[in-house]
Order: sequence, then C-alpha cells, then structure tokens
Amino acid sequence: MVRLTFYGGVNEIGGNKILLEDEGRRLFLDFGFPYKRHKQFYEEYLKPRSGAGLLDPLVMELLPPLEGLYRDDFASPGLWEQFRHTFTYRMLDRVDGVLLSHAHLDHSGHISFFRQDIPVYTTAMTAFIAKAMQDSGKSDFDQQVCYFSPTIREYPTGWKQIACLTGDTKEQRQFCIANIKPEDLSPEAVEFWRWGFWEKTKRQKPLESRPLVGHSGCSFNLRCFPVDHSIPGACAWGIETSSGWIIYSGDLRLHGKRAELTRKFIEQAAALKPKVLILEGTNVLRETNVSEYEVYQNGLRAIMGSDGLVVADFSPRDMDRLLTFRQIAVDTGRKLAILPRDAYLLKTLRLLEPEIPDIAQDDSLVIYQDTIASKSPALWLRNLCQEYDSKIILAEDVSSAQDQFVLCFSFFDLNELPSIRPGVGSLYVYSSSEPHDEEQEIDFRRLHKWLEHFNLKGFGLPVEINDKWQIPDEEKGLHASGHACASDLLEIARQINPEVLIPVHSESPEFYTKQPVLNGINVSLPALNGTIEI
Ligand SMILES: [Zn+2]
Repeated sequence: MVRLTFYGGVNEIGGNKILLEDEGRRLFLDFGFPYKRHKQFYEEYLKPRSGAGLLDPLVMELLPPLEGLYRDDFASPGLWEQFRHTFTYRMLDRVDGVLLSHAHLDHSGHISFFRQDIPVYTTAMTAFIAKAMQDSGKSDFDQQVCYFSPTIREYPTGWKQIACLTGDTKEQRQFCIANIKPEDLSPEAVEFWRWGFWEKTKRQKPLESRPLVGHSGCSFNLRCFPVDHSIPGACAWGIETSSGWIIYSGDLRLHGKRAELTRKFIEQAAALKPKVLILEGTNVLRETNVSEYEVYQNGLRAIMGSDGLVVADFSPRDMDRLLTFRQIAVDTGRKLAILPRDAYLLKTLRLLEPEIPDIAQDDSLVIYQDTIASKSPALWLRNLCQEYDSKIILAEDVSSAQDQFVLCFSFFDLNELPSIRPGVGSLYVYSSSEPHDEEQEIDFRRLHKWLEHFNLKGFGLPVEINDKWQIPDEEKGLHASGHACASDLLEIARQINPEVLIPVHSESPEFYTKQPVLNGINVSLPALNGTIEI
C-alpha cells in the first residue's frame, strides 16, 4: 500500500509538501514555501529568527514536525522533545529524496531545511535557476535551496545566551538531474554550478560544491516529464509504486510557448495508465486563457503610440515575458533595459539553451545599473558588470533618451525614478497578476501614487472599483498565466484518466468533484496533514 501525506498545498496555492511512502521507501513531491500561511504571521520586517533555526517554523506550523528530515545544525538541543507529543509529529529515519517540479519558491523554498544528504531530483534548468536565484538574491535562511552556510553555536561577546550564527563555509546540496546527462554539460555550465562566493568576506571559505549527477540512483523508478509553466525547466513526475504509477503535475499550462511539452506529458502519462494523478488547480475558477502571443499583441498596441519612457512590470524569472517585451522593444525601435539579476538569469539559461539571446551580441538588450552603488558590490554583480561593460546604461542615459527604452522594472525598483524623471507621455505597462491579498493591495495603492507623482500613465494596471481591484476591460490581456484554466485542467485530467485524482495547489479543489466530464475518475480531496492510502 502506498501512503500520500499532504503537509502543504492543501486549500492553498503553493507550499506543496507531499510525502509518498511505499514499502519503507519515501519521497517528497516538492517542499515549498507556504507564502499564504507565512504571511498570516510575518511580513518584511517581522520574520522568523534565523538564529532560532527550526523552532520558529515548527511552532508557527509552517513546517511539519518530522524528526530526522531536517538539518541538525538548525535543531537546538532538546528541540524535538517539544514536538514529540504533537499530532503531526513523526520520525522519518529514511527519505530517498525530493522530486522538485520547478524553481518557484512556493515549490522549492523549504528544501532549505532538509538534511544535506537528501538528494534533490529535478531538471538541469531548475537546478541552475535555483542557483542563479540564490547567487543574485538576498535569500533568507528559509529559502536557501541550492546551498547554505551551516550554522555554528557560540556565545557572542556580551551575550548571555548561546546563539546560532551563520558559519564561514558554504555547502551545496546534491542535485540529481533527470533530463540530461551531467557529462553532456558544457565546461561553462559545470563552472557555473561550482562557482561560489568566498571572496565576499575574507573569512568565508569556498563553496563546497557537489557535482550534478544523473538520477539513476533512486530506489524508485521515476519518469520526469518537461512541461510548460511561467518559469523554464518545469517538469511533472511519474513514480512507479507497488500500487501503480503515481503522476504529479507540478504547475503547468497548455497555452504557453512550450505547450507541446505539456501535451507530450499528457500523452506519456496516459500511456502509463496511472493509478493516481495529483493535479494542480490554481486557475480552476478561470474559464479562458490569455496566450503569450496575445500579450505581445496587446503590449505592442499599448507601447506603439508612446513617445516617452516605457516601464514594463512583470514577474521576475518569467523569461517568456522578458522575451516578449524584447520583441516589442525591437518592433517599436527601442532597446530593452533589464536589471543585472535578470541579465544574470538570462546568461545562466543560455548555458543550457543556446537559443536564448546572448546579451553581448544582442543589440536590443542593455543592462540598467542602479544609481546608488553599494560599497562592496556582490561578486556576481561585479563580474557581470565587467563582462557586459559596453552594455551598461545609467539613469542619465535613460533620462536623456526616454523614447529609446523599455525599462524592465517592478514595484520594488520604483525608487530609481527620482534619478530618471520620466517625461511627458511616459507609460507604465503592468503585465502581471491582480492583487491576491491586502498587502498587495497596499502596494498597488503605493504604485498608483508613484505613477501619479511622476505623471506616468498606467496601462493594464488593476484599479480599485467598489472595493475590488480589477484591470479595466479595455486594458486586459497583458498577462498570460503560468497555470492552465478550468477547461484545460479538465482536459488534462480526462486524457490522463487516472483511477484517482487528487487536487492540490488550489483554493477551490472541490471544483474537481462536480465535473461530469470526469465521470469514472474518483476524486479524493486531501486534508492538511492527512494521509490518502492507495
Ligand atoms: Zn509555479
């Protein structure tokens, strides 16, 4: 008998943490950061204490109390005694690995807590994006997916209590890639994987990197199916168990640029005659999709008439969208100015997909450098700025030729505007999703204030009408979701045709229980921390 236990992704979008157990073998399907539950307690300036390690996420029930699963350096002495009486406590003495579907943190973030000998099975692209995100971001202790600094315990001077401090070494997790042979990677790709940041402080020791290895060592027979989602490298998984094949969709869509990957997955998954399909349901309440091509057409229409600066706001890591705006920039005689972190990601993707444009060679791409430099810029940033020296533009370059650029900024980059001073006729094109919670609504109020202040015309921007934030009808169609709409999800379920369908990653999973088209498929709704036996 196979047991599936759902520690996250139940009645919530993201935070997937699914434990699969079969005759003593155990795998996790994703181990994501539960944004929604996290936000109930925390915000930017109120965070779990990194020095408390596992204590905060365990007490706040953001992490299941599974002894044996997590890093020892995060467990203070006596920690586990506090949780052994709890309902969800379990001792997991053996976990064979985690199957990671893609690099969005709501699927990967809490891998940070895993013991370092637990391998991460994923695609090469997801592994590389996870590293690029960490290299170029300020990842908190609970989002260090690819590598981490083990904490050390000591009494800092003048402190009465023992503290967990970030150590001087960095260790990389073992990533096992499923879709290509590690020996087929280029020397540049191997070098990227090994590259660490020890120069940042003199005390820090080099990243202790583990090579990427193939995934054949797993005790399960696995299938990795590339699928289309709003981040490159996404995949679904098939796991052969003693009860039959179990398919896990991860996040996917049928209307993106790589829709044929998802179609191929459907076909191959159906051929396995699976017992179970664990399927996402982010957009079960949406009836239609906007395609990336429509985003291109609508974006082009919005930008074509503009004779001032154009700011394009879209989700980080959505490379399809970045390339869409690059095309729009080309077609409107402008250059696309991207931020260094996007340039770093683009450069990383090109290590695996040579068809991604080369920033050095591509006339339509430039890199916008922040006006205020830090005293000691991070090494990745310094290297990047040196490598693409001739491609760097500054606020004054943009300011003096505003009709020459499409600037890829998000809300958090608006503080550059005082250096740019957008002129008359400038446009802010919003190409992302509508606000999901109060915090985002507050950010939108702020965004509107910024636009007002700088006389920037908003386009595609959600506005508040009768207490509801929505995009005006005539400005819709500037965002293609990473997730399939209702009819596509039903099509996926119907064609794969499992015996049991388990919806996850959805705020309305009961949607699947009322669909005549799924007749013959047994829909089983998971409960948080609950187990479904197969
Ligand atoms: Zn995702």
